[in-house]
This record gives sequence, structure tokens and C-alpha cells, in this order.
Amino acid sequence: MVSRIIPVDAFDLVVFGATGDLASRKIFPALYKRLLAGQVPADARVIGLARAAHTPEAFRHQLAASIRAHVGTAVDEACLARFVSQVDYLQLDVLGEAGWAELVARLGEHGARIRVFYLSVAPGLFSPICDRLWRHGITTVQSRIVAEKPFGHDFESARALNLHLAAHFAESQLYRIDHYLGKETVQNLMAIRFANALFEPLWNARFVDHVQITVAETIGVEGRGEYYDHAGALRDMVQNHLMQLLCLIAMEPPSRFAPDPVRDEKLKVIRAIEPFDAERVREDTVRGQYRAGADVPSYADDIGRTGSRTESFVAMKLRIANWRWSGTPFYLRTGKRLRARFSEIAVAFREVPHSVFAQTVSRLPANVLVIRLQPDEGITLRMTIKEPGPGGMRLMEVPLDMSFAEALVGKGLHMPDAYERLLMDIVRGDQTLFMRGDEVEAAWAWVDPIAAAWELDRRQPQPYDPGTSGPDDALMLMHRDNRRWRGIGE
Ligand code: NAD
Repeated sequence: MVSRIIPVDAFDLVVFGATGDLASRKIFPALYKRLLAGQVPADARVIGLARAAHTPEAFRHQLAASIRAHVGTAVDEACLARFVSQVDYLQLDVLGEAGWAELVARLGEHGARIRVFYLSVAPGLFSPICDRLWRHGITTVQSRIVAEKPFGHDFESARALNLHLAAHFAESQLYRIDHYLGKETVQNLMAIRFANALFEPLWNARFVDHVQITVAETIGVEGRGEYYDHAGALRDMVQNHLMQLLCLIAMEPPSRFAPDPVRDEKLKVIRAIEPFDAERVREDTVRGQYRAGADVPSYADDIGRTGSRTESFVAMKLRIANWRWSGTPFYLRTGKRLRARFSEIAVAFREVPHSVFAQTVSRLPANVLVIRLQPDEGITLRMTIKEPGPGGMRLMEVPLDMSFAEALVGKGLHMPDAYERLLMDIVRGDQTLFMRGDEVEAAWAWVDPIAAAWELDRRQPQPYDPGTSGPDDALMLMHRDNRRWRGIGE
């Protein structure tokens, strides 16, 4: 395999919540894959922490089985054995004081080196853990703290958490994860925009009619009902993932591809999104909740109670009040139990100003640049060409298609999982793909009035059938502007 691996320095990675779902499905498999790729040094060490009473041997045994189950490809057993040999386990209740001295001792074995503390636990435990890391003198200037989503529930709680973290750590030590930023296609969005001369001159309201961002899931709330019912699609998806995608589409070119220049530009976008008052919330947002289907339960069944007004679907129309985007609406939608597992960003360009083919073609289709996040990551540009053959000038729409998986196969490269990229960035100390504290707060400050207006509106979200594109009003949100959503999974 051809690889372009930039080695990282030796590190100690402490995973809080090592027996949890995220650690098992994402963090450990990603580490194994990086080790397989030759990027994890032989003296790097991973220490798993959780409440369960495992011996390190039992944990390693369980971890090996879990990696085989989750890694998605055939496992290289020699590599897996090497990986688990670099993993240690410590039983520790993070709310107590016992066990921390043992962590100090184990970390001390290697002296000064990069220490990463990955908080893969419920967000309520972030502050107690950071307090104890600090109190027990476990963190050094070489330490990084990784916080999973959700980062706060609203502006106030996000600010309180930021202040709490800032009492112990510098912003340069904090890595707030939004794994969407680790996706290859999402990073490619920046490459497409800023490494090609073709698009950037057209990337503004004069040439772009509108932008659509869709993140559709087929699953329901599954086992996360209690958390989800407290959050809803707005907090769970829009405030973070969709907002980050919007930022990368709408931001100005940063001066450099470096943490603060990129994050400064994203922050400016969030601050330029027109705020919603109650009237705009009524007009430009749609909430939905899935019904029962032939073989799937309703939202109410999934969370175990009726009467919840939490949305499992949201669609909205945003405007960005700046020179570049004034006059170009951004339509966002995300939901559960939809037709397909499908995420994409579509940049719809304006029609040509005058058609020279008016005698034969009533309307020329406009170009659309589609950035697919899943399935099958890739980028497609829909173009209009002449239909081949004699018989006059007939036109047809064709995709100029680049599927990354296909494009990379010939070069011996593989599509890494977002967590692979993000974990190595953390060890390297590169914060470019992580959210800065002020960005997260600004996103909450924009979301809070919408959540508050919905709270006051006593109506139920609109019911929608599983396997569809969501409630009818979401379709109307675009129809009334003479536009339409692209199909989900078509
Ligand atoms: P989980 O419930 O599966 O695992 C929680 C882990 O925390 C377990 O290892 C448990 O032992 C440990 N833990 C709980 N209380 C503890 C205590 N007092 N002391 C020590 N350890 C304790 O949770 P998860 O799904 O793995 O999620 C972890 C974090 O990641 C959460 O913040 C979640 O919001 C976030 N997240 C999860 C996913 C996912 O797909 N699971 C996706 C995005 C973000």
C-alpha cells in the first residue's frame, strides 16, 4: 500500500469511558488502523479508564474482540496483538478521589511526553474530570483535553463549561470534536474551494442561487431516547454538524490553512447568520416527529412516553447577512427515520442569463455542485451538454463525477475514518479541524432563540412517515421559493 504517513511523536492517550459505545466503535478501531498504517509509534501507550472492574488482560481480550467486530475489514492479527499490547486499563470512578494516584504513577513511567485525555463520557463528567486532572497534577503543558459532543445544551451551559475548562487549561490545549470536520469530503470542500481557481470566482450570491445541506438518517433514536428527547434535532445536529458544514461553504478564504485563520473565518459566518425572531421561526423553520411505520415504532414508542414535543426532524431556511451571500438562501434539513442514510451539500448555481437554445429547449437546467458525505463520499458537478447524435441541438444533463473511493483505489490510498484523522491531529497538536470555544458559543447563541420560540409554541411537531423525506411543510419551505429539495438517496 502506498502511504503518506507523517509520523507522530510518542504519546500517552488516556481514554475516559473506555468501555463505552463511542470508544468501542470509533476511538479504538481508529487507533488500530493508524497503528496498521505505521503511524502509531511502538512506545505510544493507551490507558483505558472506566468504572468496570476489569484486569488489564481481560480488557485487552475484550478490546481485541471489539476491534474485530467494528473495524469493518479483515483484521491483521499480528498488528492487533501489537496494538492491544500497547493498551493498559485502570478502573476508576471519575467522581471519586481513589485511583488518580495510580494514574499519576502509570503516566509517570514515561516521563515528559504528549498526554492526551479523551473525555468519551457523559458531558456532565467533563468538569469533574478536568478538576481532578488538575488537582492531582496529572496534566502538563504537553497535555491536550478532548471533549466529545454535545458541548453544552445552550449558550449558558457552553459558556460555563468553557470557563470551567479555561480555569485549568489554555485554549490551545482544548480539542472540541465535531467528527464531521474529520470527514475526507468535508476537508475536500476546502481543497475544492481554495486550491482550484475554477469555483471561487463563482462562489457568491451573484452566481449561486441557493445552497442545500441535508443530513438524513434511517435509524430512530435507538437506545439514546433519554438524551435525544432532551436535545432534539436542532441541538443534536444543527448546532454542530450542519453549522460546521455551512461555515465551510460560506466562509471567506482564510489567510492560511492553520487553526486560528480557519476558525476566525468560520466564526464570522456564524455571527453573520441572520438571527431568528418568533415570526421567522414560524415562517422559516419546520419541526417534525416520526410516526410508527409498518415495522418500526413511533418516536413516542422509542422514548417510552407520549406527548413529547421534541423534533426528530428539522428543516430551515437561513440567510447570511454579508456581501458575499446577501440574496442566496441556505436550506438545511436533518432528521431520523428518513428514506436513506444520506448526507450531502448541494451548491445550486443560477441559470444562464440568456438561453441561445430557446427554440428547442424551454428551460436550461442550472449547474449543481454536489458534495456527498455519505454514502460513497465524492463530488459531482452536474453540467449540460449536447445529446450525442444528429438531429439538431438537443441538450442533456450529465454528472462530472469523482467518487473518492474509486479515485483513490488506483493510488493505493484508503479513505480514513474521521476519527483516524482527528486523533492524529490531536497528537500532533493541530487544532484546525476542532471547534474553538467562541465558535461553539456563537453557534448556541444563534440556536437558542429558535429553541426558545419552539418551547413557547405549544403545537406538536408535524408527524411524518418513516422512510419519507420528512413532513410536507419541509417541501413547502422550498416550493414557496420556486425551488425544490434534491431527492434523499436517489
Ligand atoms: P456510554 O454510555 O456507552 O459509555 C460511557 C462510558 O463512561 C463507559 O465506559 C462508562 O464506564 C464510563 N463512565 C460513566 N460514568 C463513569 C464514572 N463515574 N467514572 C468512570 N467512568 C464512567 O457512552 P458513549 O455512547 O460511549 O458516549 C460517550 C460520549 O461521547 C458522550 O459524551 C456522548 O455524547 C459522546 N458521543 C457518543 C457518540 C456515539 O456514537 N456513541 C457519538 C457522538 C458523541
